[in-house]
Amino acid sequence: MKISHIEHIGIAVKSLDEAIPFYEEILGMKCYAIEEVADQKVKTAFFMAGQTKIELLESTDSEGPIGKFIDKKGQGIHHIAFAVDNVNEALNELSSKEIQLIDKTGRKGAEGLNIGFLHPKSTLGVLTEVCSK
Ligand code: ZN
Repeated sequence: MKISHIEHIGIAVKSLDEAIPFYEEILGMKCYAIEEVADQKVKTAFFMAGQTKIELLESTDSEGPIGKFIDKKGQGIHHIAFAVDNVNEALNELSSKEIQLIDKTGRKGAEGLNIGFLHPKSTLGVLTEVCSK
């Protein structure tokens, strides 16, 4: 497995309508896409920072993963996503190294990426995602 860069940082927010103006007006970034990922019960907003994206995540269902996260921890950094060549190969390799996986195989994420999550128990407390095109 070879990580090329940080593909994105996922940030849980209560409201995209409140969060987007901070990134646009205060930080001077441009929101270039808003997408709903029904599978993960989120609406996402994307910004570019070099080759790394900021992915804002607003829950569309209080029982979804982001809804529960905000309930427990409040708004803030939710996960970090590393770009790899092939998600399924990366997940297999990590599994063989005794890393606990949330996704045993890749699934479809925002922007058509193939994604897989590793369990924070195995990653020193950081919810970690690997993704590939
Ligand atoms: Zn992500």
